[in-house]
Amino acid sequence: MISPSGPGAQRNASPYLHGREAAAVACVLESGQYGHTEVTEEFERRVAEFLGVRDAVAVMSGTAALHTALLTAGIRPGHEVVVPAMTFCATVQAILAVGATPVFADIDPATLCVTDQLVMDAVTANTAAVMPVLFGGRAVDLTPIRKDLDARRIAVIEDAAHAFGSRNGARRVGATGDLTCFSFGPIKNLTCGQGGILIPRTEAEADMIRSIRMLGVVQSQAERGRTTNYRVEGFGLRYQMSGINAAIGLAQLDHFEEAETTRRNLWLAYRRSLAGLDGVQLIDVDPDRSVPHLCQVLVAHRDEVHEQMTARGIGVGVHYPPNHLQPAFARWRRDLPATERVGLEVLTLPFHQHLTEKDIDQVVAVLGQALKTVGASGTRS
Ligand SMILES: *Cc1c(COP(=O)(O)O)cnc(C)c1O
Repeated sequence: MISPSGPGAQRNASPYLHGREAAAVACVLESGQYGHTEVTEEFERRVAEFLGVRDAVAVMSGTAALHTALLTAGIRPGHEVVVPAMTFCATVQAILAVGATPVFADIDPATLCVTDQLVMDAVTANTAAVMPVLFGGRAVDLTPIRKDLDARRIAVIEDAAHAFGSRNGARRVGATGDLTCFSFGPIKNLTCGQGGILIPRTEAEADMIRSIRMLGVVQSQAERGRTTNYRVEGFGLRYQMSGINAAIGLAQLDHFEEAETTRRNLWLAYRRSLAGLDGVQLIDVDPDRSVPHLCQVLVAHRDEVHEQMTARGIGVGVHYPPNHLQPAFARWRRDLPATERVGLEVLTLPFHQHLTEKDIDQVVAVLGQALKTVGASGTRS
């Protein structure tokens, strides 16, 4: 019998506060300014500096970042957008928000990411954008098809919600020249409570994003605060990030190096611990370059394994039920064999910064017992 695991193992994901977040929020509350403020702008500058980019524009969520990116790239009804079916539903909803058509791409089951070949399989004459999802924090390298995409004027919009801090080659994700969207939701690598940020490709694009996220309202520095005088110059939504959320993000950013090291070490501890287990395939997040966001395995009889581990108090999850099988997206269904297999076999193990290596050994021991009980042990190698 395995001893019960620590409280960390009961949660699949969890925010991790470094200590200064509450004081930073209190400071904003006392200032009496709760909207988009200098705190938001400081957060944008600090994120841009951290990523090594000229500009970063903060918004209220990762979903808002994706929607704004599609608007900025001019994606509209009649356009097709290639997106992996293996992603959080937010990626697909953002495409529907601009009236475009999602075209679901399959994934490499070893990484849960699209490959250049799988993207090209889904591209047609109507494709206006492709949205690689940086699954688990892993960068997606589209270099082999870059020229082809540019020639066809297909925009690359990265859903990097999992990948804050990860590297693509020598540069941080976000600094490689694509329109990149990060999420700072509660359980992401860095959290603002809720929030997101966009990395624009050009200065003109940055201006456009700033306008869209502020209801299309453009104000000069001199006009700021004079509410009798503003101009609505284009389409926009209330998507800006509050200084309350930005203050949390700033406090988190001060400790990001620590978060990066912890997440990488925990993922490597899982890899070591899982190495002795039959019937399990670990999804490779490329830990040397990534800040891991998830730790996932493929197992046979996943639902039974999930049930057994849950009964033993282990916080397992499934990321994600494939989108092309969701009722709301059924119109765009097509055959995606790898995605469908992963949808049945993928199991997300507890992964967050409250975990200890002891928790990890216990999670893996409980997984091993569950695999034996359901007869899935030894069915994979
Ligand atoms: C979290 C997430 C989003 C959406 O971000 P929110 O901040 O929750 O709106 C989009 N795509 C993926 C892959 C995500 O994990």
